[in-house]
Amino acid sequence: MAAGLRSLPSVGELLNRPECAAAVAQYGHDLTVAALRSTLTDARAAMLENARAPDAMALAAAALARLLRDAQPLVKPVFNLTGVVIHTNLGRALLAEEAIAAAATAMREAMALEFDLGQGKRGERDGLLRKLLCELTGAEDATIVNNNAAAVLLTLNTIAKGREVVVSRGELIEIGGAFRMPDVMQRAGARLREVGTTNRTHARDYSEAITQRTAALMKVHPSNYRVQGFSSEVAGADVASIAHAAGLPFVNDLGSGVLIDLSGYGLAREQTVAEAVAEGADLVTFSGDKLLGGAQAGFIVGKRALIAQINKNPLKRVLRVDKIRLAATEATLRLYRDPTRLAQKLPTLRHLSRKRAEIAAMGQTLLPAARAAFTDYAVDVVDCESQIGSGAMPLHGLPSAALAFRAKSQAAVKSLAQRLRAEPKPIVGRIENGALLLDLRCLDDSAELATAFARFGKPA
Ligand SMILES: *Cc1c(COP(=O)(O)O)cnc(C)c1O
Repeated sequence: MAAGLRSLPSVGELLNRPECAAAVAQYGHDLTVAALRSTLTDARAAMLENARAPDAMALAAAALARLLRDAQPLVKPVFNLTGVVIHTNLGRALLAEEAIAAAATAMREAMALEFDLGQGKRGERDGLLRKLLCELTGAEDATIVNNNAAAVLLTLNTIAKGREVVVSRGELIEIGGAFRMPDVMQRAGARLREVGTTNRTHARDYSEAITQRTAALMKVHPSNYRVQGFSSEVAGADVASIAHAAGLPFVNDLGSGVLIDLSGYGLAREQTVAEAVAEGADLVTFSGDKLLGGAQAGFIVGKRALIAQINKNPLKRVLRVDKIRLAATEATLRLYRDPTRLAQKLPTLRHLSRKRAEIAAMGQTLLPAARAAFTDYAVDVVDCESQIGSGAMPLHGLPSAALAFRAKSQAAVKSLAQRLRAEPKPIVGRIENGALLLDLRCLDDSAELATAFARFGKPA
């Protein structure tokens, strides 16, 4: 055995092979040497388990495979065929071409980000989007931060640090990814004053909770769940009146936050940001990359004096948005100035408003390629329901269609799901009623998926 181990070539000998010289040219000397060392270590370990000594060619090939594998980016695109349009774990909204172009320019070039071009001196980052956000929401002033979680944190830290915020028990939500409203409030330094019960909160619950310690009244969009049956909540306009009568601000966290009425696109009617502002909210917070369809961002819009206070908070600097997302956000918001063309321009809205018939037709065109590639499975086009995702309108399913893959055993279905996720561009579906469904709602390029099917399981 020891003699066998000694028969392995050295790193230096392997480096002299032509394929390794090519690897050095491509990946650099240090990475190639490291890959050869790791490969030799593995070979020695295998030989101690009685494997035969590999020859130099096999060792070089193994090292090259290792280099290729390690060179693959981990932040990579996938086919989102889960049926969840705004999938937080798959990166939420897909941006409009206008936003992509603006972001690319911002990456490549210097930008007048905090530079007043008129005066030739330091300017204000938020000033760039203020006018647009005010126009779209009717608010007096606006600011932008990293995401809506940051918007809520910054808002409460600014106006309620060391004091109480009154919130209904029915709105103390957990959104997933460890965003729990009570925890965020606590981290903001605000004390939560829960009122009402899980299913019912009344106007008097808010008014009776107000004391010297109260900093604000708050409503939180329930997002990903609904209380149904014997339930009641207090309308934002009424909470606003109660707050204002006591000289307190009313904060409304809308979560997803829609800028326009989406019922024309086959979605549920939701209060828009402008409506929330109009009914008396002093501050409204919402996300940039949920239903709005833009880059990750959090917006705070509302009263000028409060926004000024928020902008002075040192935490604002910690939570600020970089030039790339600022550029993408501006371009996305500009699209809302012409709502008639929005569904054409915003991929999120286009995907959300797709009709089942169109999706099913796409399934039919893909069916032959799917059947040819997956001969061990029964493949059909079936009706299914997509979801909006990211906590928006959780009870509002979207009629959709999917390629369904069935097999004799559940293990075979699971194994297919796993192998599809291991493809160079992973194909992510969902398992429902024993079948693997590839919901085609978010597929833009059916030819690309057909090609992926054809090369399924073949080495790269
Ligand atoms: C999603 C959501 C948040 C968090 O927003 P992010 O943009 O994900 O940070 C906060 N509040 C509500 C009500 C939400 O739905």
